[in-house]
Amino acid sequence: MKQTQTFQAEIKKLLDLMIHSLYSHKEIFLRELISNASDAMDKRKFLSLTDENALPAGTELNIELETLPDQKILKIKDNGIGMTYEEAEKFLGTIAHSGTKELLQHIQEAKERPELIGQFGVGFYSSFMVAKKVSVHTQKVGSTEAVLWESEGDGTYTIDRIPKADGIGTTITLHLKTDEKNENKNESTDDHSEFDSQDFTAFWTLKSLIKKYSDFIRYPIKMKNDKSEFEILNSQKALWLKSPSEVKEEEYNEFYQQISHDWQKPAKTIHFKAEGTMEFQALLFIPSKQPWNYYSRDIEYGPNLYIKRVFIMNHCQDLMPRHLRFVKGIVDSSDLSLNVSREMLQKDRKVTGIKKSLVNKVYNTLKDLMTQERSQYESIWNEFGSTIKEGLVDEMQAKEKIQDLLLFHSTNSDQLVSLKEYIERKKEDQKSIYYLSGDSLDVVKKSPYLEKLKVKGIEVLFCVDPVDEWVMPSLGVYQELNFVSLTKGDLDLDSEEEKKEVETFEAKFKPLMDTIKKHLDTDVKDVRFSHRLTTSAACLVSAENDPTAHMQKLMEKMGQGAGAMGGNLKRILELNPKHPIYEKMTSSTEDIQKKWAEIIYYQALLFEGSPIPNPQKFTEHINELMLNQK
Ligand code: ADP
Repeated sequence: MKQTQTFQAEIKKLLDLMIHSLYSHKEIFLRELISNASDAMDKRKFLSLTDENALPAGTELNIELETLPDQKILKIKDNGIGMTYEEAEKFLGTIAHSGTKELLQHIQEAKERPELIGQFGVGFYSSFMVAKKVSVHTQKVGSTEAVLWESEGDGTYTIDRIPKADGIGTTITLHLKTDEKNENKNESTDDHSEFDSQDFTAFWTLKSLIKKYSDFIRYPIKMKNDKSEFEILNSQKALWLKSPSEVKEEEYNEFYQQISHDWQKPAKTIHFKAEGTMEFQALLFIPSKQPWNYYSRDIEYGPNLYIKRVFIMNHCQDLMPRHLRFVKGIVDSSDLSLNVSREMLQKDRKVTGIKKSLVNKVYNTLKDLMTQERSQYESIWNEFGSTIKEGLVDEMQAKEKIQDLLLFHSTNSDQLVSLKEYIERKKEDQKSIYYLSGDSLDVVKKSPYLEKLKVKGIEVLFCVDPVDEWVMPSLGVYQELNFVSLTKGDLDLDSEEEKKEVETFEAKFKPLMDTIKKHLDTDVKDVRFSHRLTTSAACLVSAENDPTAHMQKLMEKMGQGAGAMGGNLKRILELNPKHPIYEKMTSSTEDIQKKWAEIIYYQALLFEGSPIPNPQKFTEHINELMLNQK
């Protein structure tokens, strides 16, 4: 019996945006439907690897376009896996993927920047951009009944079982809108109507759209031409099997755009063939920008896997580590068995071998880019650097390779610097690599922690990427130099003379120091004279084995408060003995010394960008000082 159902709320919203707000690139509906058809055929083929009834011998998997121009009808037929009643209800009436909210938000944005629309996998629903009514006629492999699903994109759809079926697969019938321009006239402000006038029943229009968006689809896409002969509209080229010298750059770019749904060119193409113990071909791409859904938790990654030219699966995560999840592409192996299951892939040692070789190739390509095409490398680094750095924490054995890919801002100049370059220009007697972490470049550049190193002319690396707090300690040693955080422990930078000088101050200010220590006892772990300041009066540092203040802040942001770090860790207050304020304090009353000690402590907190616990008291002290000023 025919049932009328309502769409899930998100879909209603999505449809509404599709129908009323997006004017350009309506043509991408075809790419989306062809890509769904191709996926459905992949699934049927994959099933046939273990179930021979799923694909009787002699069945050619293909997509057929059929048009009825007089009735403004376009049909897209595939003989893929098909859908059952329950599947049609679920897949076409709800949005299964978890990134829906995000997707909606991005589509909202695309209202303002319609050129973005092509980037989102809007899928099946994009058909409502061009059709006033969509019918889906589908029959699942192994089932004798078919399903008819229909909707006018108005918030409801109907679904019905139909006993007589034409065969396994899915036919999507689009009843095309006739006068789109007039329909949307009132809402259209810009002229994005470049494609509005396209006739999606015309052979030449469809042929050129297939060429543009779906040329590399691995199944033939057929359509009857003007002479009523079937023509195959796509080249189905397995580009990765060709030798790189035979492939033009445009072909790589088009191929990349089709597999990634990115409309920009890739930043780097890596095409190679492995021979010897392992035989496979790989065509990998590094995108030039992060995709819109890059930060969603369940982003799919990894190259698409083929075995002896037979498609096995999209996004084979066993072939790429998570920290290289931005790499897209295809791997075709002649060593793996066609009867693999997804579970078996994980344990297959050959798969691990291919992964290792792919990863090395990516690292080596990046390293070459860094030395040979620096500005291009820097733009890749800006997009994907923090992702690459995750590898240092997740996979210790990746350290050797990744450490040479790192780039940092530094005190030296506005240019990014690698560790190798840092070491090449370091001071001769410099024993460590110094770094300072913080929330932003602006903050760290002005930090008092840099004072001493500036005077000594030592370069300091800035770590302003949140992952750096985890990454830097995992680096350990680089070319025999330790990594030292400026906000921790003893910097060990002083000459014998300077050390003596501090000792003199310590003796001189002993009584003052005792008062300050006692008074600030609940706030800080210790108070001592500093070796790192030259102009500021004081700063706070973490003890050698404690996490830095920045790390504590990050943990709190992530919902892991002080508890996770073993309580709110107290730090060490360092005073600059050369600052005239201490000389002045020695001749003040103990009461004044205590107040000033508090002001100095609060100043140190403000310096590092931390809130002060008692702003009222701070203000009172300052006001008192102002009033006493003659
Ligand atoms: P996506 O393709 O991103 O999953 P769609 O909205 O395009 O999202 O499609 C939703 C689901 O409907 C697909 O995942 C698939 O399971 C099913 N589907 C769509 N088109 C077809 C088709 N031609 N044949 C079989 N299943 C299909």
